[in-house]
Amino acid sequence: MLEDTSPPASHRPPDGEIDRRMEEPGLAGVAEGVALLASARVPTSHGEFRVFSYRSTEALDGLNGHAPPEHLACVLGQGDHDAATLVRVHSECATGDLLGSLRCDCGEQLGASLRLIAEEGAGILVYLRSHEGRGIGLARKFRAYQLQDDGADTVDANLTLGLPADGRSYGVAAAILADLGVRSVRLLTNNLDKAAGLLEHGIDVAERIPLQVAPNAENIRYLLTKRDRLGHLLDGLDGAAAAVADEASTDEDTFAERDIHRKQTAAVASDEASADEAVALGETNADAAASNSDLAGLQTAGAPATGTRR
Ligand SMILES: [Zn+2]
Repeated sequence: MLEDTSPPASHRPPDGEIDRRMEEPGLAGVAEGVALLASARVPTSHGEFRVFSYRSTEALDGLNGHAPPEHLACVLGQGDHDAATLVRVHSECATGDLLGSLRCDCGEQLGASLRLIAEEGAGILVYLRSHEGRGIGLARKFRAYQLQDDGADTVDANLTLGLPADGRSYGVAAAILADLGVRSVRLLTNNLDKAAGLLEHGIDVAERIPLQVAPNAENIRYLLTKRDRLGHLLDGLDGAAAAVADEASTDEDTFAERDIHRKQTAAVASDEASADEAVALGETNADAAASNSDLAGLQTAGAPATGTRR
């Protein structure tokens, strides 16, 4: 990739604009509801991003009850107002994103998104800090995990706690994208609600690009629940589930050991082979995701896909 020596991209507010907005919040124009706080150049292993810090100007409608967090918009490459921008709107998941937890697919989706944006040479990752545990916050997510370890699925666990199955909204993400000059996106997601949420807030979703990662023994049930109860478009899970069941039946000792570890509350030196046991069940389909669009899926959600693609 050529070194970026050209003028600021259309994705980026012009020089001086950020300082101006910091002095006078609310100047964001179409980006009603967010304030741009600052930005910085952030070189990463995926390329050099310009990372913008945003804060919602409205009270959080989430369930955390804390001050509105700062969201990130990570911009790579040049913007083009005439083409739909490759975008990932990623919901914060401390366990998945920071620790690589195998309980969910968040960490792998985050990495795959950055890789796909880097491969394209341009795109935006919006990282939403108020979306932990589908909007219920970290502590409540952990309580939901305890219920899941006792047999509940991820939806029933939330409902048992008196919380919504999915409490996320996408107005802030849409406002951030609008502030960056983005009107139309090619969205990396398996979640039709996410595409519909952006559409609802004025961002055209020209294309949905699947972002499916390889299931493992720890997250297969979670993924099946996301598919069957939350409507996420996930392919090939039945085969993966069967493989996990096979693995369990031929390796009962291993699973029993893991269960014992899970239920222990004392910290133990965990040199057990749980990491080794994580079952890789097929290849990540990030390559397929890059080329595979599913407008039909968008349209079945009642959301017209009206954008153009370059
Ligand atoms: Zn997660």
